[in-house]
This record gives sequence, structure tokens and C-alpha cells, in this order.
Amino acid sequence: MHANTPIKPAYIDLHVHSTASDGSLSPVKIIQAADKANLRAIAITDHDTIDGSVEALQHQHSSGVEILPGVEISASFESGAMHILGYLIRLDDVSLRGVLKVLQKARASRNLQIIERLQGLGVDISYDEILKASGGGQVGRPHIAHVLVQKGIVQNIDNAFNKLLRKGSPAYAEKYRLLPVEAIEAISGAGGVPVLAHPFTLNAKTEGDLERVLVELKQAGLKGVEAYCPGHGPELTAMYERLADHHGLLVTGGTDFHGALKPEVHIGIGRGDLRIPYRLVEELKKETNQPPSPSLSP
Ligand SMILES: [Zn+2]
Ligand SMILES: [Zn+2]
Repeated sequence: MHANTPIKPAYIDLHVHSTASDGSLSPVKIIQAADKANLRAIAITDHDTIDGSVEALQHQHSSGVEILPGVEISASFESGAMHILGYLIRLDDVSLRGVLKVLQKARASRNLQIIERLQGLGVDISYDEILKASGGGQVGRPHIAHVLVQKGIVQNIDNAFNKLLRKGSPAYAEKYRLLPVEAIEAISGAGGVPVLAHPFTLNAKTEGDLERVLVELKQAGLKGVEAYCPGHGPELTAMYERLADHHGLLVTGGTDFHGALKPEVHIGIGRGDLRIPYRLVEELKKETNQPPSPSLSP
């Protein structure tokens, strides 16, 4: 960094989606948005792909925003959605790339299954139409829903999910997911730090239930918990901080920014009140034994 570059305020966003998965902004546009929001560091954590991180790192020099290599991997979990974030991963790691390739293939074949089921129900829809609707990024049920609305088959996106696409409805196809331990090992194996994303989506009923899950994940190699995110009120945040502290896990935070697909969530600040401090990046780096960033530290 240039000697007279002004020191940025020490805020970060470690959970951002780009067009490489289901966000609406390209990695370059995300860097520009982060720069404008005065963020000091971000991580692009696309679902099951590191393409967004690779592209962002190629453009890191275009701004004063530090880019942490990242990914978000879905894992199987009975009562809710379990997503494992991976930070500071080696982007050229052969075995991580292999795992992500398997997940992407599974994603593609699931989409084809859904299309076949819709066709079986007499719906006039093709995979090409879905590809077009995706605009070149990752393809998924939201794009299928979009085409169903466009064609007047359902009234809106909610209808598309409720009547056809959600679990238990006629065009639903099961998704292949890694076991939590497999997701954690894929990240650790690439030198990264595995962190449980937005714990509230696990739908744990009590603090004790969540604690049991955390203990199991920690035994599998989990290193942190995403304590700060827009879906958490102050009480949940305090609970996640308490549990992380008690079990020797670090805390991270991010907005789960998706651009225009989730317009109420803004990069860095979520719904307006998130301020995630840069020192959490230093904590992550300690986990990987990487040197801190002296030029960026206040
Ligand atoms: Zn997630
Ligand atoms: Zn996410």
C-alpha cells in the first residue's frame, strides 16, 4: 500500500456472494462497492465455488480493500441449513478444487432432474431457458422459479417454490451435500479456517442444542462461528459470542451480501447497523500462522 494512502476505518465484511454463485455483482463490482463503503477487508464466499475469490484477488490491487480467499460449502444437517465458510484457503489446492467440482456437477444434475420433473408435469420449460435466466453464474432453483414466473406458469417466486420447487412438492429433487466433517476437512486440507455460517439457520431450539452441534463440529475441526450477521439480533449475537468463547472458537462476521437479490442487505453494514472490526481478520490469520498485515494495521 502507498505510504500516503489514508488509513481506512477498521471495518470488514467476510460474507459476500458474487455472480460466480448467486450474487448480482461481479467480483470487480464488489471490490468497488467495498471501497466505496470504506471497508478495509472482504471475503467473497460463493456457494461451492472459489471462482469469485480467484477473480477478486486478481483485481485486489485496484483498491485499498484487502481480499481474503473464501468459500461457503453447504453440509447436510437434519433440522436446518448448515453452511461452512472457509477462509484463507489455498485457491490452487487440488483436493479442495476436486471437492468443489463434485458439488458443482451434483448441482447441475439436480437442476436437470427438476426440469425433467417439471416437463413430466406438463410444464413447457427447457434447461437453456434456465441457463439464460442465470446470466452466466451458478444455476439454481431461483432461476427456475424466475422462468416459471416469466412464462406465467405461477404468479410469483414464492408460488413457484410453494407449488413446485420446495421440499415435498412435485418437482423437488434432493440435493447432494457433504457431511459436515467432509466440508470442514476440505477447507482445513486447503490450509483454510472453517467457520460455521449464520448459526441461526440450523434451527436449534435451545442454546444447549446449538452447543452440542458446536462441540461435534469442533471435534471435526471447526475453528470459528459467524457471530455477526444481519439475521442475528443482539441476544443471539451475545449467545454466539458466549458459546464461541466458552469452546475456544473464534468469531467472524459478514452480511451474506447478494446485491440486488437481497436489496435490503448492504455490503459491510447489512440492514444498517453492522460494524465488524478488522481485528477478526488478524485472529483468522493467527489460525493459519500467516503474518499479520502490518501496512494495514492501525
Ligand atoms: Zn449461507
Ligand atoms: Zn452466504
